[in-house]
Amino acid sequence: MSANEHRSEPLRLVIFGRQGAGKGTQCDRIVKQYGVVHLSTGDMFRAAIAAGSEIGSQVAPILAAGGLVSDDLTIALVRERLAHSDVQESGFVLDGFPRTTSQADALLGLLSESGASLDAVVNLEVALEEVTARMKSRGRNDDTDEGIAKRLALYDRETVPVIDWFDERGLVLRVDGIGAEHEVSDRLFAAIDGGVTH
Ligand code: ADP
Repeated sequence: MSANEHRSEPLRLVIFGRQGAGKGTQCDRIVKQYGVVHLSTGDMFRAAIAAGSEIGSQVAPILAAGGLVSDDLTIALVRERLAHSDVQESGFVLDGFPRTTSQADALLGLLSESGASLDAVVNLEVALEEVTARMKSRGRNDDTDEGIAKRLALYDRETVPVIDWFDERGLVLRVDGIGAEHEVSDRLFAAIDGGVTH
């Protein structure tokens, strides 16, 4: 049984997790379980670049430099995507957005404009030492000790305040991300089903 079966409204989620926490895998599992649309702002920007669109040419140098795209542009893109009928009908799991508290505020504003609300913010928790070990064992080119430490520090500086912002609003479900993929997804589904009340 899943949360969507007794709901008149589709499920609307945000997921957070450090690099190496298994967020991609768990997003796929959430999509299968609840029938929601996976919305990744990183994927949207990469698709815009691949399509050679106006937005794509604006964001390409920013992504290449590992910077953040402006809040205005990012929010405009998410606003447009949230209005699509698939997302309206099926709900979503947002991944990579919001990354700033202004984006978080804008998200709640966008949803309330259409009488909707966010059901939960899932924080997939894996200790720093564990994600560092996992990333090192992947052996990717950009997974040097220094590169790993830099990206993880950026996450703490940038994203943790956004999680705290949602926490102050009582929206955060903490899920232990250690264990086999199915163990983690069972925990995730239990948290979502138990934590989503309407
Ligand atoms: P990563 O987790 O490695 O940063 P993503 O796929 O989430 O990968 O994002 C890739 C890039 O897209 C980011 O480095 C950033 O430049 C841009 N980006 C994605 N989401 C956002 C966002 N919410 N706000 C600003 N920039 C973003």
